[in-house]
Amino acid sequence: MREQARQLTNRDIVTNTRALVADVRARVVDAKARVTDRNVVLSVQEYEKETEKPNIIFPLLIKPLNDKNSSLHPNRYWRGKAGANSATFGSSRSGGRRHAGRDLYGKELTTSIVAICDGVVLGRNAFFNQTDEVVILHTTNDGRKFIIRYAEVAPSSVAVRRGDNVIQGQEIAKIGALTPSITIDGRTTNMLHIEYYTGSEGFNLSKPLTDRNSSSEYRRRADVADPLDILIEGYANTFNVK
Ligand SMILES: [Zn+2]
Repeated sequence: MREQARQLTNRDIVTNTRALVADVRARVVDAKARVTDRNVVLSVQEYEKETEKPNIIFPLLIKPLNDKNSSLHPNRYWRGKAGANSATFGSSRSGGRRHAGRDLYGKELTTSIVAICDGVVLGRNAFFNQTDEVVILHTTNDGRKFIIRYAEVAPSSVAVRRGDNVIQGQEIAKIGALTPSITIDGRTTNMLHIEYYTGSEGFNLSKPLTDRNSSSEYRRRADVADPLDILIEGYANTFNVK
């Protein structure tokens, strides 16, 4: 009887020990899983943060030639306040007209123009002095919707057509060569001429953007507006500076 009890006790000890070991193993596996899960969650959060697309980027991948403190164009800063110089929105043009966009100077047939956010191409047409325009309806990640006219682009470089979906950063064309050329600050100058439309006149081209009979000095559709804020936002994101 005593012998049997000892055997039972020994067997119980073995059983209990096995159960304990199994329990500890299970706890270790569970703890490891929790640690791994946590690391995965942290990694995913980190990844999403790092790869988060900005709402808007700059339409050029390099800083324009008429950027701040430009030696070539010291008085054509694209970011000047409206009307301050010929590159700005609202500056005077011949015949009492006012400039309906902003000019970002670059090198003809070389400087790439990219989509500032995702969108759909509404149209592509001839624009001015042998250059073309590409018109895109854009929608930002944070839900803003507006039309951008990318103009004075090289016709041979246009890489999109009406109806195409474009993604942020996609090259849509290159800066064109105005023909006849224009001279600014003593040198032949080419540029991206960029116009912004809020969409209050429609998110399509049923009403044309250019309206030569308009009573407005811009000779544009009534929802034309200064693209300055959008350009500043894009500049900060593309060049990582304010
Ligand atoms: Zn212009």
